[in-house]
Amino acid sequence: MAVNKEKYTELIQELSGKNVALIAVSKFKSPSDILELYNLGQRDFGENYVQELLEKHEELPNDIRWHFIGHLQSNKVKYIAPFIHLIHGVDSFNLLKAIDKEGAKNNRVIDILLQIRISQEETKYGLVEEELKQILLDLPDQQRKNICIKGFMGMASFTEDERKLKQEFDFLAAMFKKYDQRSIQFQQFQTLSIGMSNDYSLAIAAGSTMIRIGSLLFGRRT
Ligand SMILES: *Cc1c(COP(=O)(O)O)cnc(C)c1O
Repeated sequence: MAVNKEKYTELIQELSGKNVALIAVSKFKSPSDILELYNLGQRDFGENYVQELLEKHEELPNDIRWHFIGHLQSNKVKYIAPFIHLIHGVDSFNLLKAIDKEGAKNNRVIDILLQIRISQEETKYGLVEEELKQILLDLPDQQRKNICIKGFMGMASFTEDERKLKQEFDFLAAMFKKYDQRSIQFQQFQTLSIGMSNDYSLAIAAGSTMIRIGSLLFGRRT
């Protein structure tokens, strides 16, 4: 299936004037597909797998802002640390430490989002609030200068039950507000990454500032 340029233009129009960034999720899609959206002005792309991301980063224009949205293993941080724009799925203190360390090696501050568990599905990763609190307690005295926590990311359940989706998004939006107010620790806490092809309207209604859209733009993944 071809890249849906009309949908892209529609989506951009829908988002204009809103404080919502569009990440085009290009996993399994070819560099030429990515270039089609790039040529329409899209610069933020999301990938889930390190090897695939490295190959695309190598091949494609270097003003693309690459977002890592998959589940990242600590031992692979080093490969993406030199260039990654935002790491969405940070869900452990160990991963945070690994990113900080690689940030230091590359002499940069790496922006990250903490992934919060909002779905009870087994396959979904993320921190529960107790773990989040512990991480925040552990952070300050460790002087982690090479990471910047920009906000939260969540993945809703795989369901068409809009009430359930809304509940999950509202839960995270409320938590986002709550931690935003304690912004002593988070000087640039401004990003709430929720919403995918099937549920982005609900996510925006709940307060999303960043949606991650794959199949709607690139067609179904095989
Ligand atoms: C694949 C993926 C998306 C995009 O999903 P679509 O339903 O194709 O829009 C968004 N976020 C994450 C974390 C993903 O893995």
